[in-house]
Amino acid sequence: MQLKNPSLWQTSSFINGEWHSSNNTFKVENPANGEVIAEVSEVTAGQLELAVKSANESLSSWQAKTVDERGNILRRWYDLMLGNQHDLAQILTAEQGKPFAEAMGEIVYGAKYIDWYLEEAKRAHGAILPVNQKGKRMLVLKRPVGVVSAITPWNFPNAMILRKAAAALAAGCTFIVKPADLTPLSALAIGQLAIEAGIPAGVFNVVVGRDAQAIGEVLTQDPIINKFSFTGSTAVGKKLLAQCATTVKKTSMELGGNAPLIIFNDANMEVAIKGVMTSKYRNSGQTCVCANRIFVQKNILPEFVEKLTATIKELKVGVGTEEGVIVGPLIEKKAVEKVEYLVNSAIESGACLNLGGKRLNQSESGNFYAPTVLTDVTPDMDIFNNEIFGPVTSIISFETEEEVTKLANQTNYGLCSYIFTENLARIWRLSETLEYGMVGVNEGLLSNPAAPFGGVKESGMGREGGYWGLDDYLETKYICIGNMD
Ligand code: ADP
Repeated sequence: MQLKNPSLWQTSSFINGEWHSSNNTFKVENPANGEVIAEVSEVTAGQLELAVKSANESLSSWQAKTVDERGNILRRWYDLMLGNQHDLAQILTAEQGKPFAEAMGEIVYGAKYIDWYLEEAKRAHGAILPVNQKGKRMLVLKRPVGVVSAITPWNFPNAMILRKAAAALAAGCTFIVKPADLTPLSALAIGQLAIEAGIPAGVFNVVVGRDAQAIGEVLTQDPIINKFSFTGSTAVGKKLLAQCATTVKKTSMELGGNAPLIIFNDANMEVAIKGVMTSKYRNSGQTCVCANRIFVQKNILPEFVEKLTATIKELKVGVGTEEGVIVGPLIEKKAVEKVEYLVNSAIESGACLNLGGKRLNQSESGNFYAPTVLTDVTPDMDIFNNEIFGPVTSIISFETEEEVTKLANQTNYGLCSYIFTENLARIWRLSETLEYGMVGVNEGLLSNPAAPFGGVKESGMGREGGYWGLDDYLETKYICIGNMD
């Protein structure tokens, strides 16, 4: 890999503006071929303590800056992300596997949160309330919550960090993140750009290590930390939420999903197929908003399946750096095994395999699974009830709107849902009745820095993006001035 800016390649924790290595290391592998691309230092307990201490010590001077001063620094960070886009995308594809074009897109997408939040912070105003008691004046201030810690997943190694860090830093908070140990290099490159942007030491820290539990205990329980933000599985999120309860931390939880994508017989079929492709095959199906259950109205099912299967057949699977590749490897062996199990058990229970259904050996040790289409999927199957996280389209047929609404809501998850129809009244009805934090209408790609991303039910709490995302890093403080008459 040839980086124009070789200093982006870092292999130790970024704490208080400096790199901290240790004697213990862990390997980072390229999921396309199993090749070890880096040996990264495990953060030590002492270094972790230093990260918390420096985030705390840098808090008052970061808060004391004017919103414009913070904004100017963050603007440099944003410019550097774009200026280093190619290098950052190369690092991302090498450790995560996604096609290079998608990695390039993720860098811009992540950076856009910095751009959006440095502007939005200028509007984080409070309020002066109308006088309703003589001699009293009531004011509301918005104040940064303080030191923020975060744990992020491997599927968007850049953007899942910046979605949180951009809002936190713009609000005046300081930040410590533990990225997934499968993809620490993109996170560390962001740390290098924090130095180049002039973000003061201690304001942005990255701690890397394989002992997620030990690091997580500090990040969720240290009383100095005021807020914890997590993106990952519901099972781990529940555990971390319980840990946060010990110090009553403010939390944001962006957890798993089981997205329904519903296609009615009045939908524009081209639009619906495009929606499925965007929602399902981005990142090889490894996003929490990937359509997990595709519901198709019975009388259009044969035509839809035929057209969709033909489109999916054309997808080029391969190593992310190869030209024209749309579907890269899955992140690790375990992920391939899980997808394999879900597909095989669905077939054993009566689902029909229309395409794929097997591993692909792109290279000896790559984690490739073929784009797959299953029909006749039913609610009793594991594939209906679990997040697939792979390139598998799982199709269920339905007859009425009432029936499909019930089936779509038949899950503990509530992150994202999609509907395809040209009927305005139905769009409105389902936007209200689907128990999800987000509804895509004739659209498979929703995420946007200006919009509130997040879920209901066991998909979590809090929002990332938009006004709501900034508010999650602000406390509401009430000031009452008395005896004014
Ligand atoms: P995924 O299915 O995306 O791998 P996880 O919830 O397992 O989701 O992982 C998301 C993040 O949570 C990663 O950074 C991982 O290292 C971290 N993590 C996993 N288990 C724990 C734990 N017990 N305590 C703290 N962090 C954890």
